[in-house]
Amino acid sequence: PQIDRYAVFGHPIGHSQSPRIHTLFAAQTGQVLTYAAQDVPAEDFETAAREFFVTGGKGLNCTVPLKELAFAWTDQLSERAVQAKAVNTLALRPDGAVFGDNTDGEGLVRDLTGNLGLGIEGRRILLLGAGGAGRGVLAPLLALAPERLVIANRTVAKAEILAGEFGDLGPVVGCGFADLAGESFDLILNATAASLGGEVPDLPGGLLAAGGSCYDLAYGKEPTSFVRWGKAAGAALSMDGIGMLVEQAAAAFELWRGVRPATRSVIAALNAGRGLAA
Ligand code: NDP
Repeated sequence: PQIDRYAVFGHPIGHSQSPRIHTLFAAQTGQVLTYAAQDVPAEDFETAAREFFVTGGKGLNCTVPLKELAFAWTDQLSERAVQAKAVNTLALRPDGAVFGDNTDGEGLVRDLTGNLGLGIEGRRILLLGAGGAGRGVLAPLLALAPERLVIANRTVAKAEILAGEFGDLGPVVGCGFADLAGESFDLILNATAASLGGEVPDLPGGLLAAGGSCYDLAYGKEPTSFVRWGKAAGAALSMDGIGMLVEQAAAAFELWRGVRPATRSVIAALNAGRGLAA
């Protein structure tokens, strides 16, 4: 029989860790499958996705810049994909339909609260960035009942619009970076793309409360600029998004295979591979 086939589509895709993560999950759970990385620019997404499923592919992950395209392409969507307006996981259903889900928010929350032991309930949370990743994590964060959640973005209007959209789910406001002066937060999450260029959002000093922590959704071979910013600001914990990456993958794997892989050893393996402590 044919081996079940999975893949991640994105552009660029060369440095994707997803094939390694899913191969480790498959070995650990005794599942037999293949998982490949395929370079798919935005203009080729629909053709490549259709071809993948028509030729027997079982499931796809989508990353930059395809998540919004995957959302528009899919006919069946999970509620959290609708809230995120983005799809990172596509699954072939037995009836031949392709189901679209978004596991990024779940991945972040599991890493923060499960792996790192950080509290959200009753805490003051600052979310930097109002792009796709920021939108995707808002509902899962608000579901954990923070005292307040402030979205700050370079383009202020985008933060205000997001806050307005999610206002029914909890105490959330949007503003610009300079408006944060004098505020204090227990957890600062960086969902901007600034780290990718080695930059940090232009923030006022003194934002991190004593004992507070920082988390960068971005990750790389070296500690990101925001992880270093957090350490310099005295964060109890200043982590990057490798744990979120593994956790969103675990949720996708469970959707596809019906079995949830353990993540701790996989996070440790990825950290060992980049010379960071497990
Ligand atoms: P988008 O392009 O949708 O959004 C980019 C955001 O970053 C916008 O809010 C933008 O502000 C802001 N931004 C970009 N450059 C700067 C800068 N120099 N200074 C301040 N703000 C800046 O990207 P995504 O939301 O898709 O991705 C954001 C980050 O999250 C990326 O680093 C990505 O790698 C990471 N990510 C990690 C995941 C994981 O599993 N660990 C999953 C998903 C994303 P403006 O609106 O003003 O342009």
